[in-house]
Amino acid sequence: MENSKDLRKWLDDMQLPHPLVIAGPCSAETEEQVLKIAHELKDSDVNYYRAGIWKPRTRPGNFEGVGAIGLKWLQKVKAETGLKTATEVANRAHVDLALEHDIDMLWIGARSTVSPFIVQEIADALEGTDKVVLIKNPVNPDLSLWLGAVERLHSANIKKLGVIHRGFSTYEKTKYRNIPEWQMAIELQTRFPDLPLINDPSHITGKRDMVFDVSQTALDLNFDGLMIETHHDPDNAWSDAAQQVTPSVLKQMFKDLKMRKETD
Ligand code: PEP
Ligand code: MN
Repeated sequence: MENSKDLRKWLDDMQLPHPLVIAGPCSAETEEQVLKIAHELKDSDVNYYRAGIWKPRTRPGNFEGVGAIGLKWLQKVKAETGLKTATEVANRAHVDLALEHDIDMLWIGARSTVSPFIVQEIADALEGTDKVVLIKNPVNPDLSLWLGAVERLHSANIKKLGVIHRGFSTYEKTKYRNIPEWQMAIELQTRFPDLPLINDPSHITGKRDMVFDVSQTALDLNFDGLMIETHHDPDNAWSDAAQQVTPSVLKQMFKDLKMRKETD
């Protein structure tokens, strides 16, 4: 796989202030909820509005997403706020629907990156797309699976590629929901120095009080962006309630985070 500046051209071309910011709820719940949060994030550092429509839950019996209707809500978000939109895709049907609804950014979740069959199916469905496609690290700390997914998507001629570091699961209980193992992200960066690297402090920490510190660490390590779950009423969110921050907390965070010094 080529390893040139071409890998980050799409991000440079967007000429956004550093970092790239993706925020919005873990799950789209109702049309009102999706639009309310989007309006609260409209005039902020947020570039892309995220909301999970199809939710990969580890155990059955939890909320598994509103499904395709949520894509219409994201279209409304774009029309009403101008925010670009992002959602998770986990199979060909999701990709086809997301492309039909002109979603701007698609990401592959941690539970999908572990499966080369699923990654290849998504890569084939996305062949040649001009949408942004981000690949979360696999749930387990296996760099090869992450690299393999990048290679499969790159081979499908997807130009706007990036990766999301969301931490790794462990058997031992730690203060993190998913331990960061920062060296894994750094290793990936060493292999593909120009591939945009986004941090997801929400799924790393699992706790909203820790999101700021992990975000700061990511910025200190020169990550290109942050994906932060944001909800107007986090305690009553239908998924990942403990880790979501409110739009006003998010805005304050971006006032307090120390940004990297420009070196060139
Ligand atoms: C999510 O972004 O809400 C999500 C399900 O994340 P992950 O794939 O990192 O668990
Ligand atoms: Mn989540």
